[in-house]
Amino acid sequence: MRIVLLGAPGSGKGTQAKLLVAKYNIPHVSTGDILRSSVTAGTDLGKKAKAVMDAGQLVSDDIVLGLIQERFARTDAKNGFILDGFPRNIPQAQALDAMLARLGRPLQLSLLVDVPNDVLMKRITGRRSCPSCGSVFNIYFSQPKTSNKCDKCGTALQHRSDDNEATVRSRLQVYEQQTAPLVAYYKAQGKLRTVRGTGSINEIFKSISDIVEAQIRPLADVMHKIEEEEAAKAAKVAAEKLAVKEAAKAAAKAAAAAAKAAKKPAVLPKAGKKVAPPAKPSKKDITAKKAPPPKAKPAKKPAPAKAKPKAKAKPKPPKKPK
Ligand code: AMP
Repeated sequence: MRIVLLGAPGSGKGTQAKLLVAKYNIPHVSTGDILRSSVTAGTDLGKKAKAVMDAGQLVSDDIVLGLIQERFARTDAKNGFILDGFPRNIPQAQALDAMLARLGRPLQLSLLVDVPNDVLMKRITGRRSCPSCGSVFNIYFSQPKTSNKCDKCGTALQHRSDDNEATVRSRLQVYEQQTAPLVAYYKAQGKLRTVRGTGSINEIFKSISDIVEAQIRPLADVMHKIEEEEAAKAAKVAAEKLAVKEAAKAAAKAAAAAAKAAKKPAVLPKAGKKVAPPAKPSKKDITAKKAPPPKAKPAKKPAPAKAKPKAKAKPKPPKKPK
């Protein structure tokens, strides 16, 4: 299952991605999460990315494509993935298409989670997340029971540094300018489906699951059937090739035997006995004539000490039967 989740920051695509991962057991690939863990780890990449992320701008395509390529190389991505936050612009989408084409596993679905801008602003600026278990709360819509503490594990909640109002405005603007054109891009490919991203998480997930079941499952079944037919065809071709090879081997063996038989000196008849005329050449003998000459036997008399044996000496051709 290969899906891209599209949606503005705060559309809830990350939450829906986690539910899809739990249901279909495929990895959630979020470039935002990967970049944030690089920032937390203080890697060179993280240091480069932090300022750009805090300004609400996009990290360079080179960096992001490198991260995606690394992520796809991991074995768990072989069965599919849910991409969240990637691609973010047309060049990234084109690079993704090229990458997947090389792997022979094109994207199956691009799901847009559609949410009006005023709702997005409250969702993002009110968002608080647990750095320990990943639970997400919102001070406007779903407050934690104890202020700023995770309901599940009690860890102090975090407010992402790029979730402040100024950064959110810039992120929404970047979304409109650079990411929103992907809607038309995937529509043109016939891969776009849209769900309303307002309402309860479960309602939204139900709409998403219905689309996935309708769009990907039947296709997966068809693909499975095609793959089975291709495998059967390939096995048949391999068996035919093997049979031809075996037949050629047997013919060569028979030809070699015939050639050997033709080389044997004739048993001379005793004097006075009637000599039978030479037999007509059989089909086997004719084949033998066409067969490659047998390997040279070493000369009876050994050559002088230093001379190498004439390995390539041509044997006398077998006498043609008259
Ligand atoms: P997200 O968690 O997806 O909202 O991403 C947070 C920030 O990470 C974004 O505002 C960007 O600065 C950066 N980022 C995430 N994904 C990408 C991407 N595909 N291309 C460029 N920058 C990205």
